[in-house]
Amino acid sequence: MVKEQRTKWWGCDRALFKYSQNSGNSGRSGFIKNACLLLHNQTTSMGIFERDTDIYRDRDALREDYQPEELVGRDEELRAYQTALQPVINAEQPNNIFLYGKTGVGKTAATRYLLSHLKEDVKQYEDIDFNLVFLNCDGLISSYQIATRLVNELRDDSNQISTTGYPRSSVYEMLWEELDELGGTVLVVLDEVDHVQDDSILYQLPRARANGNLSSTKIGIIGISNDFSFRDDLSPKVKSSLCEQEIHFPAYDADDLQKILTQRATVAFYDDVLDDAVIPLCAAYGAKDAGDARQSIDLLMKTGDIARDDNSEIVTEEHVERGRRNLERGRIEEGINGLTQHGHLVLYALLTLDLEQETPVRSRDIRPRYSLFAERAGRDPLVPRRMRDHLSELAMLGLISVTERNEGRRGGTYREYDMDMSPELILSALDDVLNDVGVHESVKQHLISDTESEETTALTDFS
Ligand code: ADP
Ligand code: MG
Repeated sequence: MVKEQRTKWWGCDRALFKYSQNSGNSGRSGFIKNACLLLHNQTTSMGIFERDTDIYRDRDALREDYQPEELVGRDEELRAYQTALQPVINAEQPNNIFLYGKTGVGKTAATRYLLSHLKEDVKQYEDIDFNLVFLNCDGLISSYQIATRLVNELRDDSNQISTTGYPRSSVYEMLWEELDELGGTVLVVLDEVDHVQDDSILYQLPRARANGNLSSTKIGIIGISNDFSFRDDLSPKVKSSLCEQEIHFPAYDADDLQKILTQRATVAFYDDVLDDAVIPLCAAYGAKDAGDARQSIDLLMKTGDIARDDNSEIVTEEHVERGRRNLERGRIEEGINGLTQHGHLVLYALLTLDLEQETPVRSRDIRPRYSLFAERAGRDPLVPRRMRDHLSELAMLGLISVTERNEGRRGGTYREYDMDMSPELILSALDDVLNDVGVHESVKQHLISDTESEETTALTDFS
């Protein structure tokens, strides 16, 4: 219907455009054009927007901020988590809990789910005064920033402190004061705590009572990390206090993801709108990627959106495939755009080795290719350790894969790297580095396409 209306509108517009050219009076033309649109809309009593929710019952259920009523397939982890939280109900000193696992495996959802139950359930015990502070540490890189944010969370709006300018010890003093004033039991959740680069607060908070900084409040810290190495890199004294109870959230497999997607789809889509193959396919892709429920749910939403754009009454496998291509392209471009030039050079080096069937490959064997590329781009190659940091970053972004291997009898371990993504997608985001370094022989056949051929000829050939 919208299309039909648009055609009519343009028909009207074209006639008026002719009129305005002849008369040279565009102001008047604008007026008549608007009047024409108004008249048209009045006669058909229709705006230009129209509801098209034939597929979705509640699309918001697929969004990041939606909290499902129940979590599926996480019984074991939830049991361990609940046990770790039990001291709160018993009015005892709470445990410090540390959750870790990759992104999208339900750590935040499980925390919100259990803590909202805990908040309700403590109400039946009069001797418990329970307070909860939830802080996402994304964008906060220092203990100082975390401490000021916590102080401000605990203070009312009229009494906030500036985020700079105080000595750290004063901010900690304010924090202890605010926390002790609350009394009772306080749980402080530090979600995505791996963003924090110094561990002072991670040592101070769990030990605040032991160190005599708190007297009336019983405090417990829940640290949540998406990054495995964060936990391993903590100093032993921080680890022993912060990680009193550790709970690992493993990646989801395809069966888990199917259950999660089915639960979500029942809320989000009308009955019988999804073709039978849609959820298993989204789940299979999710399991293959990283066992990340967020990615699978995003794929289901993109799939639904594409079907809706198509004016299709049902969602099919073909919509999933298109949704996947669309998301993957976006993810790769975003990941690659955020890297430094050395990150690009390392990625380009690994890609060319992959196309020469040299992968999986160790970092010391990537190094000569990377150094060559760096020199061609007029940059000094980074030292091996820094080059390996770039490989780790690429792996964390899911652009390449890494496997830990044992050296054999000598007992050491080493890492092997491999490409995970299609060369075409990677290359389309590596334009700049191709310009700086030139086109390596191995990537040529992956570059020539209708849209890219012009750019390719402009690049220096690699000899
Ligand atoms: P993490 O914090 O580990 O990165 P989240 O808790 O944010 O992951 O989960 C990602 C998305 O997947 C959220 O939308 C969440 O509601 C959903 N989700 C994760 N695990 C489950 C589950 N077991 N049941 C239902 N939904 C889940
Ligand atoms: Mg999270």
